[in-house]
Amino acid sequence: MPELPEVEVIRRDLVPHVEGRRIRSAKIAESRLTRRRGSPREVEAALVGRRVRALRRRGKFFVFDLGRDSLIVRLGMTGQLLWWESGDGFCPDQHTHAQLTFAGGRILSYRDIRKFGEMFILPTASVEQTLRLGVEPLDPAFTPEALRRICRGSTRIKSLLLDQTKIAGIGNIYADEALFRAGIRPTRRAASLRWEEIRSLHRSIRAVLQAGIRHRGSSIANYRDPCGQPGRFVALHRVYHRQGKPCLSCGTPVRRIVLGQRGTHFCPTCQR
Ligand SMILES: [Zn+2]
Repeated sequence: MPELPEVEVIRRDLVPHVEGRRIRSAKIAESRLTRRRGSPREVEAALVGRRVRALRRRGKFFVFDLGRDSLIVRLGMTGQLLWWESGDGFCPDQHTHAQLTFAGGRILSYRDIRKFGEMFILPTASVEQTLRLGVEPLDPAFTPEALRRICRGSTRIKSLLLDQTKIAGIGNIYADEALFRAGIRPTRRAASLRWEEIRSLHRSIRAVLQAGIRHRGSSIANYRDPCGQPGRFVALHRVYHRQGKPCLSCGTPVRRIVLGQRGTHFCPTCQR
């Protein structure tokens, strides 16, 4: 599932293509995409003729700022935003569920095998309030003190990292990787973390997200960038999907457990 780094890589790649460009036509062929709000026809109507003023990211959501309204796109499990420089080379398949055609015939297509993704329109002024997301972990506002304030109660630390209303954009891969780097077991109660552990976790969260962006994301399933290329971060995973393989620090086999219905990977020796 694409997380903050994957969404950010796609956003940065798309910005020079879409910002300032006008949407000439829009086609949404799958009604599941708009299930949260509106119908395909309503979303299409809200897009046609509008210029993309900015393409921002909030957590795992793309926010295409169209002025009064914004188009919100979430990739879900298997969504892909693909860019086509000309309509001639455009080759949709049975999983291509939406396409925006820009001035000049360039196309932004949305492809999604499992159809868990979403596309909907929100008034730009109410995006923050509606999405209800926590702090952006790469923003200056995410300080060790901010993380300490979040780390309250008996919630397990892994579940807390995945709670989008607390911290936006972290999913299963980067939560496991950050906890490994901080030496913290995913099952620990958030409130039991000492100050040094919170500072270490804060550093690790930023480090793994930045490394993920630098290596153009993690293609564990079918994540692709807008040109269809996979990311390279998988090769740098230390625990995620490495169950049974030796820990890169101590050689102990990496363990996998299920925590809150999510596969969770950790080193039983290095993580306490
Ligand atoms: Zn280890």
